[in-house]
Formats: sequence, C-alpha cells, structure tokens
Amino acid sequence: MEIAAGNRANSTTGQDELRFRIIPSIDKGKRVVTPQREHVYYVLLGERDHPTAEQVFLRAKKDMPDISMATVYNCLDALVTSGLVKQVNLDRGATRFCPNMHEHCHFYCESCGGVYDIGLTRARPEVPMPRGFKATHLELSIRGLCPDCTAKKK
Ligand SMILES: [Zn+2]
Ligand SMILES: [Zn+2]
Repeated sequence: MEIAAGNRANSTTGQDELRFRIIPSIDKGKRVVTPQREHVYYVLLGERDHPTAEQVFLRAKKDMPDISMATVYNCLDALVTSGLVKQVNLDRGATRFCPNMHEHCHFYCESCGGVYDIGLTRARPEVPMPRGFKATHLELSIRGLCPDCTAKKK
C-alpha cells in the first residue's frame, strides 16, 4: 500500500475546480446549483481536514453570515447525493465530510483527533472473502499518531 498524505498534496485547488466540477455534477443529480451549495463546497475544498457539519457551518458563516445550520445540512446532503463529497464516519464522534473522491482511506490521529487522507492508488488490499459474499465497497480506517503528534511524543 502506498502511503501518501493527501491533505497536503491537494491543498492548491480552488475556484477553478469548483466551477468545473460542481455545475455538471449537480445538474446530473438534478440538483439545483445555489450560491449556498457552491459556497459550502468551496469551504470543503479550501481546508481538507474532514470537518464536521458544525465546523463547515462556522467556516461558511465567515463569508456568508446569513447561512443557517439547516441550510448547511441541506447543502452537504446535496453535495453527497451529487457525488462531490463523501461522508466519513469514524466510531465515536460526528460525521465528517471529505471532498476527495479518489479511492482512499482515512488515518485518524488518536492524540489530536486529526483525520488524514491516505491514498490507495497502487494496490488494493486483498481481503479474502468467504464463499458467497460479494464485496461492493471497502471502508478502511487506520488509527495512530500523525507526524506532529509523533514528534511531540519523543
Ligand atoms: Zn496528531
Ligand atoms: Zn478523506
């Protein structure tokens, strides 16, 4: 398995990616593009640290003070349905949101609570399935310490 810290490598995306991706995807899902949905998507692309809905709301409010929590939930729901954003559920704790639609798994730092993308580009982990089971989807999370927390523990 190739380990790549996706969060850092992907941090240069912005408005262009937004324009090219959001409009066709939302149209396809028969979802209407609204300034709120664009804005919420932009917030998610801006800081790829897997925020919770509440964190997205706080960030979205900075440039759009009128946006409500209910609207943020609605926008996140539309983005997930349109296939632009993935929900990430790690045991204990609120659902987080990830705009990286490439195949990846999540590394959860047990010390600071940070969530990082780990690319799964080279090799798919081979999971032996018992007879009769058909896997359609693999969800993998890794727990441990991020580089900052590893350095602090020394
Ligand atoms: Zn950490
Ligand atoms: Zn992710």
